[in-house]
Amino acid sequence: MSNRETKTDVILIGAGIMSATLGTLLKELVPDWKIAVFEKLSKAGEESSNEWNNAGTGHAALCELNYTTEKPDGSVDISKAININEQFQVSMQFWSYLVNSKLIHNPQEFIMPLPHMSLVQGEQNVTFLKKRFEALSNNPLFQGMEFSDDPEKLMEWIPLIMQDRTANEPIAATKIDSGTDVNFGSLTRMLFDHLESQNVDINYKQSVQDIKRTSDGLWELKVRNLDSGIIERHTAKFVFIGGGGGSLHLLQKSGIPEGKHMGGFPVSGIFMVCKNPDVVAQHHAKVYGKAKVGAPPMSVPHLDTRFIDNQKSLLFGPFAGFSPKFLKTGSLFDLVTSVKPDNLLTMLSAGAKNMSLTNYLVQQVMLSKEKRMEELREFIPSAKSEDWDFVIAGQRVQVIKDTEAGGKGTLQFGTEVVSAADGSIAALLGASPGASTAVHVMLEVITKCFPEHVKEWEPKMKEMIPSYGVSLMENPELLHEIHTLTAQTLGLSEKKPAFS
Ligand SMILES: Cc1cc2nc3c(=O)[nH]c(=O)nc-3n(C[C@H](O)[C@H](O)[C@H](O)COP(=O)(O)OP(=O)(O)OC[C@H]3O[C@@H](n4cnc5c(N)ncnc54)[C@H](O)[C@@H]3O)c2cc1C
Repeated sequence: MSNRETKTDVILIGAGIMSATLGTLLKELVPDWKIAVFEKLSKAGEESSNEWNNAGTGHAALCELNYTTEKPDGSVDISKAININEQFQVSMQFWSYLVNSKLIHNPQEFIMPLPHMSLVQGEQNVTFLKKRFEALSNNPLFQGMEFSDDPEKLMEWIPLIMQDRTANEPIAATKIDSGTDVNFGSLTRMLFDHLESQNVDINYKQSVQDIKRTSDGLWELKVRNLDSGIIERHTAKFVFIGGGGGSLHLLQKSGIPEGKHMGGFPVSGIFMVCKNPDVVAQHHAKVYGKAKVGAPPMSVPHLDTRFIDNQKSLLFGPFAGFSPKFLKTGSLFDLVTSVKPDNLLTMLSAGAKNMSLTNYLVQQVMLSKEKRMEELREFIPSAKSEDWDFVIAGQRVQVIKDTEAGGKGTLQFGTEVVSAADGSIAALLGASPGASTAVHVMLEVITKCFPEHVKEWEPKMKEMIPSYGVSLMENPELLHEIHTLTAQTLGLSEKKPAFS
């Protein structure tokens, strides 16, 4: 039964950071366009974007070792790190624009300055870290990075990690003070509050069940009201599928050829959390280590200071695991129902290629608390079991597709914008680097889907993102100016009193 039908310019599916960002960008570019949002949960930012469902790292490649690889000649490839850093600068500029324009307030509720560090042990790893440091610290994007293999210096930087450490293996770290902890849940909620004040029609507890093309070229969504069970139909000229893990199923329903031969592989995550103020007070950084052999890149262990609900805590993990759900609130049938005739071969090939990964993930799920504590003690030798609890994090659905380099069914670890040739619909798949690069990724959606407007929108784009269309690495003066301004606006330059 259907009792409401609407027509609008834009529909955003899902109320996570991606829809929040795209909606906010579009409202600034074309305030007259009518936008509607359909979200199946009762609030915004409750799935992967929620602060407890992700690690809150402002990914700028300042500490993540998996963004730099060693080339066969022994040199370090930093091209990926440069890309990610440039993308994060785009987010920082847009957030600063929103604060300066008073569209959002109190940046300290979503972003805090926090040193980012990489930590390694063993001679080979120390040599790699030093080479990585030399390659990065010569680049303007990574200015201010320090390296040390002196245990006394490291004790000063990371006392909790260094005290009671008995192993006498070489150990080294890099540290850069311009890192951040980002509360993406809080930011998502702020952006949705702003969109609501701009008359965006936001509908919670409404699950999108189907997407079909109409004869006049619009998209019609079949939406179920989860309270009443009533089905409504809503049409739009442009649809963004920002359903996080739920996007693949919706993309498949749209039937666009660009969405064929693609699949998804869910990786779940568990963090350990410590709220004991005595322990929390001894650590102030995000410290990223090296992934274990056979572990997927998103399970690089890290020990992070987090700022959530005006409270400082420590988070360790993630421990990767396997669950067939595509969303934390999803169904156990998500993986099976994502297999369609067009992606069957792709999925079977991926299954055959990734047996060892699946085994690894299943083993990870079975780990006892004591086993997890052993991994934590590689970071904090004196960690006590009673100080640490578990938090179930969000699901990350990695994209599976056929690629020239990897062949059929290759597992991808990045994000992927899939859009129809006529730009009338786009979906975001994948989850890494994730929320940190939301602004860059949503600009990609805009460029792909609204090419006819890009020229006309350019002046506003430059107002919101001064480096729009420019490489900051190649313009160190602009980079310095932007760094100074964003740090001031977002409150990242002054030393803040630590939360208790
Ligand atoms: C363990 C973990 C750690 C991470 N760490 C980081 C990090 O440190 N830094 C970082 O930048 N990123 C990180 N990420 C990635 C980041 O969290 C995601 O990339 C980002 O939150 C995705 O935002 P989204 O809006 O696409 O999806 P989501 O936030 O998941 O939002 C999607 C929304 O769509 C809704 N939805 C789905 N299907 C439907 C439907 N059919 N109808 C209506 N609504 C629907 C869902 O309910 C949900 O609210 C991490 C992710 C995980 C899981």
